Amino acid sequence: MATIKQIDGRTIHRIQSGQVIVDLCSVVKELVENSIDAGASTIDVRFKNQGLDLIEVQDNGSGVAPANYESIALKHHTSKLSSYDDIGSLETFGFRGEALASLCALSAVSITTCVAADVPKGSKLAFEASGKLRDTSVVAAQRGTTVAVEKLFHNLPVRRRELERNIKREWHKVIALLNQYACVQTNLKFTVSQQPTKGRRIVLFSTKGNPTTRENIINIFGAKTMAALVPLDLTLQMKPTTLGSATQADLAGGLISLDVKIVGHVSRPVHGEGRQTPDRQMFFINARPCGLPQFAKTFNEVYRSYNSSQSPFILADVQLDTHLYDVNVSPDKRTILLHDQNHMLDSIRAALVEIFDSQDYTLPTSQV
Ligand code: ADP
Ligand code: MG
Repeated sequence: MATIKQIDGRTIHRIQSGQVIVDLCSVVKELVENSIDAGASTIDVRFKNQGLDLIEVQDNGSGVAPANYESIALKHHTSKLSSYDDIGSLETFGFRGEALASLCALSAVSITTCVAADVPKGSKLAFEASGKLRDTSVVAAQRGTTVAVEKLFHNLPVRRRELERNIKREWHKVIALLNQYACVQTNLKFTVSQQPTKGRRIVLFSTKGNPTTRENIINIFGAKTMAALVPLDLTLQMKPTTLGSATQADLAGGLISLDVKIVGHVSRPVHGEGRQTPDRQMFFINARPCGLPQFAKTFNEVYRSYNSSQSPFILADVQLDTHLYDVNVSPDKRTILLHDQNHMLDSIRAALVEIFDSQDYTLPTSQV
């Protein structure tokens, strides 16, 4: 009979990393969220060969201080969370300190970074698969950070082949996800470009650092798409009865607000104006893209009761106190536990009916 023994550290690291970085989308998501967490106002996402050769994310955020070079890619090392008690009040996307460590285990990672005080000199960092800093060299740099990921899944051959085989579908998902960040993040200049194996780099879309999601939608999807949308701006109060006891105590102490805002845009149910593909339906909690299937169902049901032949464009951001939900449900943080969801859905249903009922659907000729 086989003996039970401990798996060696390197193997454990690789196995676990494969759960954090499952596909091309997870790479892009982790890098973009790190840039947003670093306070960037410009993010440049560059692909070579649709990410199979290179995924590179450049930002003008805080940069990484030299004192953190050694620990930046080590597992469970983060500047964002130090104890579980803080998790309820986190305002950052990241908190587990796993993304860079996992990327090092599954690809070739290099980081070029520079903090304000050191401009115009920065450092280029290279790492071992364990996340240990392997090499540092001085380079010319602006304030901010560039993370380059090459040879994704080179040491997981089955997954690499799977990625290559499904690259068309993966690429579609990546662009849909990038559309979501670019749409919902205001005052952020977002550019996405791709260079085929042979040929010139092409900018796929960009936003201009707009103060509103409205202008972002115009930059990404065009003025015609925007003209077919109506604004959504709903405020409601969460019912305190659905909260756990710890949250109740914070509520009593005035530490938590029960106000919830649901803001965004949705198609008018005009025939000929809908026809959006499902990836034009975007849901967020405090600007974090997430799968909210019950929300999607509610929006689509109400819309279809006015226009049964099409499906709407939806951008809906649920804005609420960070204590009122739990993002630590799934590894990719896209499944989020939201207290009092049914109450929100009822309010959305009523608000949509009111909006759709009050609209005059005869469009001015300039918009047709
Ligand atoms: P997490 O985001 O959960 O902290 P990561 O592995 O994604 O874990 O990143 C580890 C740490 O590296 C972050 O906590 C942050 O301090 C630093 N870091 C990563 N990306 C950037 C970036 N683009 N700009 C500045 N610091 C970064
Ligand atoms: Mg992160």
